[in-house]
Amino acid sequence: ETTVSGTAAQGPRLRPSLDGIPTYKPGKPAGADAYKLSSNENPYPPLPGVLESAVAAAGSFNRYPDMAATALTEELARRFGVPAEHVATGTGSVSVAQSLVLSTAGPGDEVIFAWRSFEAYPIITQVAGATPVPVPLTAAEEHDLDAMLAAITERTRLIFVCNPNNPTGAAIHREELLRFLDAVPGDILVVLDEAYREFIRDERVPDGIELYRDRPNVCVLRTFSKAYGLAGLRVGFAIAHEPVATALRKTAVPFGVSQLAQDAAVASLRAEDALLERVESLVEERTRVTAALTGQGWTVVDSQANFVWLRLGERTLDFAAACGAAGVVVRPFPGEGVRVSIGEVAGNDIFLATAEAFRKEL
Ligand code: PMP
Repeated sequence: ETTVSGTAAQGPRLRPSLDGIPTYKPGKPAGADAYKLSSNENPYPPLPGVLESAVAAAGSFNRYPDMAATALTEELARRFGVPAEHVATGTGSVSVAQSLVLSTAGPGDEVIFAWRSFEAYPIITQVAGATPVPVPLTAAEEHDLDAMLAAITERTRLIFVCNPNNPTGAAIHREELLRFLDAVPGDILVVLDEAYREFIRDERVPDGIELYRDRPNVCVLRTFSKAYGLAGLRVGFAIAHEPVATALRKTAVPFGVSQLAQDAAVASLRAEDALLERVESLVEERTRVTAALTGQGWTVVDSQANFVWLRLGERTLDFAAACGAAGVVVRPFPGEGVRVSIGEVAGNDIFLATAEAFRKEL
């Protein structure tokens, strides 16, 4: 019989800093008879051609995928008019975001982001051993770019700018963003997270890919999960200058993007017209939902994404429960508010009816 001594008896020694890191909380799943408006997904099923390309790729899943994602990288480079060396793909844009943090920040370094914003930013920062520096949104639910500039220290290595912001939907305008980018020291990486780019209709919001071109410290994060409807296949990408893109290739988990995902993403880019028509319908629904909420007396941010945000404070969980009881699953941020994705018309209607009844009781 062997005896185990010391701390080994308790099992492996884990990094103590993990104790302070919450597990990522995904939007709740919905039962078969409920609408899932909790994860900003695309409600449309895959286009037949996109599905076929994934099914065809499934025939060789005994093989590893193309690690360089050559076809997808080239298609993206063409689509955006950037060198292929500037494109780095990953297992969803969240994993590319994590690689960006791992590429720039470690213990003692700081990562700035607005708060509330995408829930993964503080988590991936702490996983890298770095320190999150959340900067509160303004009362208008927008990035406080001046406060974010004021938060920069000698230890700042990366700044996330989520445009439009998840979960509020507010978007930053060109002049404001340019002023910010000009003021950030050139040795700090600014990540423009544009997961919802295709839903933007306000022409005052700039395209990050135009801003990145002559700024070596700026990169853009995009995803196939939202407008392109491939959330379940996990594929996202960054457009970044070469040193950053090369660092991303080093810090990414090898073979992270399956061949199914790569081929479906290429097929999606080729079917872009059909997909962007769907996006247009969702934007029309967003306009309808926003107008209806405003008509009910709610104060609603002009969302440039595929969701709307209701600041409900202490009534957040009650509102989410009312939606759940009515058959729509929404995303509560306890004590703050509720984010509701724009989905099928019928689901949106149930949400609106619930919001109206709730409003009358306030
Ligand atoms: N960035 C933002 C702002 C998001 O809201 C999300 C998804 N919720 C992501 C990145 C990550 O998406 P994915 O990993 O599916 O590309």
